[in-house]
Amino acid sequence: METEEKKKKGMYESVQYQFETAANVMGLDENIRKILATTNNEIVVHFPVKMDNGSVEVFTGYRVQHNNALGPYKGGLRYHPSVDIAAARALATWMTWKTSLAGLPYGGGKGGVQLDPANYSQSELERITRRFTYSLGDNIGPDIDIPAPDVNTTPQMMAWIADTYMSTKSPSERSNFAHVVTGKPVGTGGLEGRDRATGFGVVVTLQAWADWKETSLSGKKYIVQGFGNVGHWASLFMKEKGAILTAVQDASGTIYAEDGIDPQDLLTYTSANNGRVAGYSKAHAIDPSTFFTLDCDICIPAALGDQITEENAHLIKAKVIAEGANGPTNPEGEAILLKRGIDVIPDILCNSGGVIGSYFEWLQNKSGEIWTMDDVIGKLESKLLISFKKVVASSVEYKTDLRTAAYIVAIKRIEVAYKLRGIFP
Ligand code: NAD
Repeated sequence: METEEKKKKGMYESVQYQFETAANVMGLDENIRKILATTNNEIVVHFPVKMDNGSVEVFTGYRVQHNNALGPYKGGLRYHPSVDIAAARALATWMTWKTSLAGLPYGGGKGGVQLDPANYSQSELERITRRFTYSLGDNIGPDIDIPAPDVNTTPQMMAWIADTYMSTKSPSERSNFAHVVTGKPVGTGGLEGRDRATGFGVVVTLQAWADWKETSLSGKKYIVQGFGNVGHWASLFMKEKGAILTAVQDASGTIYAEDGIDPQDLLTYTSANNGRVAGYSKAHAIDPSTFFTLDCDICIPAALGDQITEENAHLIKAKVIAEGANGPTNPEGEAILLKRGIDVIPDILCNSGGVIGSYFEWLQNKSGEIWTMDDVIGKLESKLLISFKKVVASSVEYKTDLRTAAYIVAIKRIEVAYKLRGIFP
């Protein structure tokens, strides 16, 4: 428990440390530094939900809105026992940098409910999601704050959020509000390809890194932590590049196969096994504590924060870390990696395909257009490549690592907005 507490506190300290580092390198205006060092709004709601057995449970939900200088707050909702105000604060702050780096008209928000969804039935999860949405009230909205899926939240839950939000509005307003949330199922205003956008983006940035380093992804061995939305889609796209998946770790265990694991076959297995990799017969189970030390070329952490730390960074064999998750590397761990010449493609760049996909969905809903999968994939790739180039150029200009460089690009855009607009009154 103490370690869990340390980790949650650690994530917010990490994002603040990363911000301060970039602010120092770029010489950020002191007044803007003060504004960006704090969150705008922190909403905590307690709400009752009737359980299947007739009893009532009271849940705690969070929504933190970090900054909206560039547009409405945007970011996921997470259902996990580790969700609390510190975690939401850290994740909301990361979203501000991520949306700014991607050039989107959004700010950063994040939230969720502190629970383990495995302990609840589908109908209980539906009531929890609807009542949480109702409790958030007009703190969310298509031009105010637009949630999306994150750990343990699904397109189905996004559809419940949209329906609940719209149901609280008058009939004349209702039909225009589906874009209160993104990551919806395609049948209810969702975007073709939003499901794979984050995993696809991870591989686009890895390919861009490989091109930059004049190497290829083909034949490279890689390991993935998390085989949920981000992890499994990234693995499927890595397969297209000819890379070899040798180990996967999730909450149920760690599996390894020296000759490679077929991600499609593993997905068929996990889809029939509650999303869990444990028990997959074409690989063997290994000690979870050895996962990050495994021999490989590429490591894709795509689960939770604070996984690569001062405790394991010196043992990592990968030459590049592609951060599918938010905040998987803490500053102490990153310092060791950089000293050892290991590149880190930072989360705010590497996993930004998800929020870019969400932006496309929001635009599609606003304009009434229907985008095809080809439209989405093509536009996603070109936006990600623009971001990647900006980050590399910033790292050259400021002679700094990729994360600090990415932060500088993101912070500069917000700095310009504040300078042009001024501070009210
Ligand atoms: P998900 O719920 O679909 O999958 C999470 C995965 O992490 C599961 O495989 C789970 O078993 C694994 N996991 C949980 N606890 C673990 C532990 N202690 N050790 C190892 N594995 C563990 O979630 P997701 O949407 O794939 O999100 C994964 C990460 O990517 C999160 O950090 C999230 O914030 C980030 N992210 C997601 C998106 C998106 O579009 N879904 C976008 C950007 C960033």
